[in-house]
Amino acid sequence: MTQRQILLEGGTVLVDNDRFATLSLLISDGRIKALIPAGEGPEAAERVDASNRLIMPGLVNGHTHSHGALGRGGVPDDLPLEAFLSGAAWLNGARHQDDLHLSAQLSAVELIRKGCTACFDMFVELPGPTVGGIHSVAQAYHDVGMRAVVAPMIADQTIYQALPGLIDTFDPPLRDAVAALTLPAWQTIMASCADAFGSWPVPNDRVRPGIGPTIPLHCSVPFLQACAALSQQGGIPLQTHLAETRLQQVMAAQKFGTSLTEHLGRLGVLNSHFSGAHGVWLSKPEADLLAQHDACICHNPLSNLRLGSGIAPVRMLADAGVTMGVGTDASNTSDGQNMFEAMRLAATLSRAQTSDPAQWISTRAALKMATEGSARILGLDRVGKISAGWVADLVFLDAGYCHYTPLRAPLDQIVLAENGAALREVMIAGRYVLANDRILTLDENALVARARTIAERLDHANAETRLMNEAAALVVQSFCRGNCDGYATRLA
Ligand SMILES: [Zn+2]
Repeated sequence: MTQRQILLEGGTVLVDNDRFATLSLLISDGRIKALIPAGEGPEAAERVDASNRLIMPGLVNGHTHSHGALGRGGVPDDLPLEAFLSGAAWLNGARHQDDLHLSAQLSAVELIRKGCTACFDMFVELPGPTVGGIHSVAQAYHDVGMRAVVAPMIADQTIYQALPGLIDTFDPPLRDAVAALTLPAWQTIMASCADAFGSWPVPNDRVRPGIGPTIPLHCSVPFLQACAALSQQGGIPLQTHLAETRLQQVMAAQKFGTSLTEHLGRLGVLNSHFSGAHGVWLSKPEADLLAQHDACICHNPLSNLRLGSGIAPVRMLADAGVTMGVGTDASNTSDGQNMFEAMRLAATLSRAQTSDPAQWISTRAALKMATEGSARILGLDRVGKISAGWVADLVFLDAGYCHYTPLRAPLDQIVLAENGAALREVMIAGRYVLANDRILTLDENALVARARTIAERLDHANAETRLMNEAAALVVQSFCRGNCDGYATRLA
């Protein structure tokens, strides 16, 4: 269907993620058709006054989990990653397909309200993915009007099976309870994914499939290889949590006799469709290996701080030639999905790693990571920049807001100060999805009411599992401390 042409008149436009200019943008069929001198443009187009707006490309979230939106507030503030995985697993239990749909909508609304127009969603469905579950999440993004890669987060080993020696540290009866937890066989998981991707329920120009083997330690070798084969055959992006914690590398050395990235390289998993989320504990040889395979890393600075995982070596990775994106991680572990905040941390955290400004992540580099870099992770072409022929995924900021008064260096002022407070409109694929503080594609009040009811039902249904998970997390926490005490030694 051909959309009517829209002429956004006289905005202060970030062109090519490089410079601001006063221009009009002609939008047609979901794309930026032309950048036109202010005051010109076709008479027939619908005209929108953008003279009090800073217009930038929508931010692209390279890593999140929509199931986290219904888990908000359920993660105590003293849990590192492994204790979170064991202690907060209950948050994802007893969910119906409708709950997956609702959580994806909640997540999408939060992202849009913070200036994000596309995301890589590793969502989980327990005990394993189903065609209906995957389709319900895809449908949610389609209905909200967001751009997304919908990637089932999958594993064939529980954390208790995955980490060498962990189960031996449990005493009965808790040991019996965690040992009894199992996941479906990888062949069953792959069959569900292949079926769901082969019968995709929505047009795939905006919402596409991806695949998310969750953590290499939790995936058997044939399973990882099957994921890589599916990714390569379909040109589908594959993402895994890579070296998020130091413990993951310690466990990889014990289990595989090598680093995590080397393990994936040997299995043939690394290629241009591959992205690793986090990459906090990657060594220089691993960075070189990723770069050789044209692979990407998604930096999730706030989640890494919240879970005490560390600060990723972004400069080292970028210098090695790894394409870097930025993500928020989920609303359970990151507490909010604010891509402005994640982009700002990408720039500012680098200043905590060295006093040499030449080694810092510049505001321009952080912006490119949070737009074009993340779009590359999503496998999207011509997304993440304002340029003729690129998609019309645009964010409109109030040029009169305090962040921009006075306005001297708009790119710096956006990256270093914006938190979403100046956001006024969001356009995705040429269609407004947020304006006048309202999401235009769904009834937010009804969504919030349903979310409250469902969370109450889930908390009740998962109450017993929660007690078991919380007891297990104490044992996992002590196992982690015993195997990996602090950050004293960075990997060679
Ligand atoms: Zn994650």
